[in-house]
Amino acid sequence: MHRVELKNITKKFGDFTALDNINVEVEEGELLSLLGPSGCGKTTTLRIIAGLETPTEGDVFIDGKRVNDLSAAERNIAMVFQFIALYPYINVWENLAFPLKAQKMPVDQIKKKVAEISSILGLDDVLYQYPRDIHPAQGQMVSIGKAVIRDPEVYLFDEPLSHLDASMRVKMRADIKHLHEKLGRSMVFVTHDQLEAMGLSDRIAIMSQGEIVQIGTPEEIFHKPLTQYVADFVGTPPMNFLECELIQEGDEYFLRANSVKLRLQKELLDKTESGTQGSGLGKTKMVMGIRPRHIKLYIDGASKENEFLVPGTVEFIDPEGKEIVVHVSLAQGINLRVMVPFHYSVKEQDKVWIELEQDHIKLFLKNTGGAVLV
Ligand code: ATP
Repeated sequence: MHRVELKNITKKFGDFTALDNINVEVEEGELLSLLGPSGCGKTTTLRIIAGLETPTEGDVFIDGKRVNDLSAAERNIAMVFQFIALYPYINVWENLAFPLKAQKMPVDQIKKKVAEISSILGLDDVLYQYPRDIHPAQGQMVSIGKAVIRDPEVYLFDEPLSHLDASMRVKMRADIKHLHEKLGRSMVFVTHDQLEAMGLSDRIAIMSQGEIVQIGTPEEIFHKPLTQYVADFVGTPPMNFLECELIQEGDEYFLRANSVKLRLQKELLDKTESGTQGSGLGKTKMVMGIRPRHIKLYIDGASKENEFLVPGTVEFIDPEGKEIVVHVSLAQGINLRVMVPFHYSVKEQDKVWIELEQDHIKLFLKNTGGAVLV
């Protein structure tokens, strides 16, 4: 098993800085995803690890050995691209065997290796078919098989599922996870699909404009986003954001967004970066973030003695699988999405009450997007 380390990597194309001082370590046997929008530098990072691109500054290490001066062929890395790369006039077995034949491996060993990879990738039923006769998802699996059959030290995947339809992507995600568990190699997986990254990865590096803005497990990224950008990038439906400021009335604290006041537990403010009761946050423009499933919805709130309830009106309802997303308006222009079970009986224009689950409230600074409460 092998460890990959990028140290202070900067990559410039002319005057344009595509990567700005990237630092990342892929532990032995780890699957690390690079997640971010188009153009943020994911593929460039992958190509630098592979040796297909030279960093302007910084070093690449594989297993502690600096490999900057090694060519792509000398690095013993497998790279799988978005597009299926198979030889059309030979069957699946021959496609898988091709890299081994090129290495002049003895035939009995080739047969053993192809059988092993075919079984892991679920290709046994199509081994003697031609690429044109198999499903594109199976075709991409053969591409992956071709890349990994040489037993490379590190696997690099550049959006290998992006050209497949949604249901196939879900299945392939599980297959790639299985492959990773079975072979135990270090993998770097590039994607702009947060669900893919969340489902597959041991850790995720979130990228923005040539920088890595947060690295963590899917749970850390989802529950403890360090910036509003990260919070916004992961989660379906997306996190709610409300511009607000912290106000104090007597010894009670509220987040005020225009005419709406959302009460806060005092203990919550003790957890902010500003310390005791968020004393440094008064007058600071902030953005409150909360995920739709962390807001409670009541249809009989008027009868409850609960000072954390806020009244609103159902604007519209969006079914989403086994749940529904209820869009609640608290005042003109102040709307929150709330996720409730499918059987919940609400309809448009209903009067409802919402309650924020206090432990799940996030606060970000409006000017920098940095979190002060996660
Ligand atoms: P996508 O998901 O669209 O592939 P990405 O996050 O992988 O995006 P990169 O392909 O790494 O992004 O590109 C990062 C930036 O560097 C982009 O603005 C791209 O236009 C630029 N770039 C990449 N390769 C080159 C190149 N050879 N010459 C000039 N600019 C480049």
